[in-house]
Amino acid sequence: MDKPPHPFYRHLDRELAAVREAGLYKTERVITTPQGAHVQTLNAEGSPRDVLNLCANNYLGLSAHPAVLEAAHAALRSHGYGLSSVRFICGTQDLHKQLEARLARFLGTEDTILYAAAFDANGGLFEPLLGEQDAIISDTLNHASIIDGIRLCKARRYRYQHNDMADLERCLQQAAADGARFTLVFTDGVFSMDGTIAQLDVIRRLCDQYGALLGVDECHATGFLGATGRGTHEHRGVFGQIDIITGTLGKALGGASGGFTSGRRAVIELLRQRSRPYLFSNTVAPVIVGASLAVLDLLESSTELRDRLADNTRFFRDAIRAAGFQIRPGDHPIVPIMVHDAVLAQRLSARLLELGVYAVGFFYPVVPQGQARIRVQLSAAHTRSDLEHAVAAFAQAGRELGLVA
Ligand SMILES: *Cc1c(COP(=O)(O)O)cnc(C)c1O
Repeated sequence: MDKPPHPFYRHLDRELAAVREAGLYKTERVITTPQGAHVQTLNAEGSPRDVLNLCANNYLGLSAHPAVLEAAHAALRSHGYGLSSVRFICGTQDLHKQLEARLARFLGTEDTILYAAAFDANGGLFEPLLGEQDAIISDTLNHASIIDGIRLCKARRYRYQHNDMADLERCLQQAAADGARFTLVFTDGVFSMDGTIAQLDVIRRLCDQYGALLGVDECHATGFLGATGRGTHEHRGVFGQIDIITGTLGKALGGASGGFTSGRRAVIELLRQRSRPYLFSNTVAPVIVGASLAVLDLLESSTELRDRLADNTRFFRDAIRAAGFQIRPGDHPIVPIMVHDAVLAQRLSARLLELGVYAVGFFYPVVPQGQARIRVQLSAAHTRSDLEHAVAAFAQAGRELGLVA
């Protein structure tokens, strides 16, 4: 007779059922093509369908860009597939050193350290640098990887209300009153659910006033925010004034995977000595590193892609508003189209897919109750006719669901 399953597995089945009942179960749509403005997905019956993609972090359209693919092929040929080593044993190639130097130059810092993912960059950032005499002040809506990284660190924790500069100042005063040796303020440069751009100029001024350091996670900014795409610091006029920048190669910069931390030489040097995801996890694959160098070549030689993304963002924001939808104001290519009701958001997303437009709905607990939305993310790869098609589909689905007149 078969052994009965361990009670643990029945426990997991109950947990999964609870997730489903709460309406929080996440499914994955299967794509059969490279990432791009248009992708082919499989529907529930397994048959393919071409859709316009409005939900990738492919801001600059580099995920399958010919120059990026060619650089990836070239690096594969010249530097092999994998390193089978962490960096400090035998996992550092000339390409890795080049990319770290190039990222530092691009971001306006002294040095950069690569990680397997930005999640690891944030996870391994705080604990090596700060101790129990120190303070970390964090925006309440900071990314999960920042929250986890801070949890691993013994520094005293303070949280300010999202984007609330008066509350940040209260935290700075409290940290000082509590006798913090060093204080680090850490924020997302761009918050991914709303496209809100952090007020880095104000935050920098407050940090200077209270002698605090400033760190920023630039995952939704590097490559396209600011006049030459350097990021939120360029956009807010504080380029070269950020102590620590973390970011990803897995969004605008080609979208494969990999992350980094960038800052003063001593910060990066200490991370190389002590940051656990760096010390105990494999080197970023040479293919990704070679392709990322080509991405930086592209971005430093021309602002064409970030300019086109900015044009697309302006066009779509104006057109979707003219179609009667309520959006969160701003100028980031993340465009939250507010539906408020979770069921309606899911119905809108499903109807859009039928109309050939792939855009996902977000609802509680990913966003606050009553703030359900479709989050659109624009790309330099979208053409004007793509965006006109998208707006027409939103207008039709919106009328059918009684969301717009
Ligand atoms: C996507 C994202 C990350 C994680 O990046 P990966 O490189 O995919 O691990 C971290 N922080 C923020 C703000 C992000 O948006």
